[in-house]
Amino acid sequence: MRYVSTRGEAPTLSFDDALLAGLARDGGLYVPESWPRLPAIELKALAGRPYAEIAFAVLRPFVGGTIADNDLAAMIDDAYRGFGHPAVAPLKQLDADDWLLELFHGPTLAFKDYALQLVGRMFDHVLAAKGRRATIVGATSGDTGSAAIEACRDRAAIDIFILHPKGRVSEVQRRQMTTVQSANVHNIAVEGTFDDCQDLVKGMFADAPFREAHSLSAVNSINWARIAAQVVYYVSAALSLGAPARKIAFAVPTGNFGNVYAAYVAAQMGLPIRRLVIGSNRNDILARLLATGEMKVASVEPSLSPSMDIQVSSNFERLLFDLAGSNGAAVAKMMARFRRRGALRLSPARHRRLGRLFEGGRADDRETLAAIERIYKTTGELVDPHSAVGLHTMASAQRERGVPMVALACAHPAKFPDAVERATGVRPHLPARLGDLLTRPERMTALPNDLRAVEDFVRGRVRVAA
Ligand SMILES: *Cc1c(COP(=O)(O)O)cnc(C)c1O
Repeated sequence: MRYVSTRGEAPTLSFDDALLAGLARDGGLYVPESWPRLPAIELKALAGRPYAEIAFAVLRPFVGGTIADNDLAAMIDDAYRGFGHPAVAPLKQLDADDWLLELFHGPTLAFKDYALQLVGRMFDHVLAAKGRRATIVGATSGDTGSAAIEACRDRAAIDIFILHPKGRVSEVQRRQMTTVQSANVHNIAVEGTFDDCQDLVKGMFADAPFREAHSLSAVNSINWARIAAQVVYYVSAALSLGAPARKIAFAVPTGNFGNVYAAYVAAQMGLPIRRLVIGSNRNDILARLLATGEMKVASVEPSLSPSMDIQVSSNFERLLFDLAGSNGAAVAKMMARFRRRGALRLSPARHRRLGRLFEGGRADDRETLAAIERIYKTTGELVDPHSAVGLHTMASAQRERGVPMVALACAHPAKFPDAVERATGVRPHLPARLGDLLTRPERMTALPNDLRAVEDFVRGRVRVAA
């Protein structure tokens, strides 16, 4: 299995090299040059099997032999063993044909754990095999940082530095990062905003001697391995509900288009997905694209679902590559025009093709709260604001008789207790295994919003290869 860049210029890579590269050198994103297939007979054989076994079957063709089968299986077992539910990604029934897929049983209580717990292990394994080390740097406004830290803690070949804006992330979010007592984990509280943090990270990557000296890397959502790992829970949910004999639909709250793109990949592999409903909050560039055929940037507005406060959904480029018939040069041209003008219009034929599988919807903050309240009143379930955006969209989506629709619950309600309490009057509790989070000792370093200061700190803390 080889991976090509969506912009057609960067060298094609194997899975392990694409894993370490992240972004392609031409600015594009890596995609497999063809879709591996999961034939109905194989799907049937996987029905009822444990999550880890389904994960192995889904991921093996993507890995393409670059990680030995027994190592891959061991990493998968290890990654999901510690999850808080034996089913890893359990389904709950909300109504006759409405289901909720709970993706918050990982260590940081959001769906990003499902990919990152495995990708952190793969990263370490591949680095060790190549005799290399990496320094992961990243900026977070809350959720991503803790998932990345949990994925990379105690890994021999990795040091991780996560920048967050000092005093501007919630206490639960900050503590999920700063209470990790591992020698290779470094939290930097920047005297500034999230944008300042992002600029500092970009500054480090732009400093070529610094980047090379410390083998800077990222585990952000454009990494192909993260997408591949997310395909697994779509397959597992569909099998539980009767696939391959039965068709299925999903409602996915969306920010960077990574999660719902993984569902699209599952469909390309042969999972009988009838419809994918994309839920946006007030930052609704994708909903507008599906309605009008034009992708047009607006300013980012804060909402109750902060992990979806995104205007440019990076992973959409991967879908664009397929819509453009795998023509990298055409995608490069479209993306350049999009960057210049802040807008991109799909041809009517491509817009129609998009609409065959995808449908878009949006929920503003009022509708998000109303959805949390409605789900609580009708089912007794507390859902977080991101999940509520998907559930709101699902309620008005086109439905087909006999086709179940699964809404993704992307974060535990206790990660966003204020919004949940506002909507329901009930304050959600952290799961017991995180009950002492608010009393664990914290470890972080406050630094000024200054590239030199941050680079000096990284230089002083990275471990040297043994
Ligand atoms: C990251 C995140 C999202 C958005 O997912 P994408 O893959 O960027 O579309 C939605 N909800 C929660 C809770 C998240 O952490």
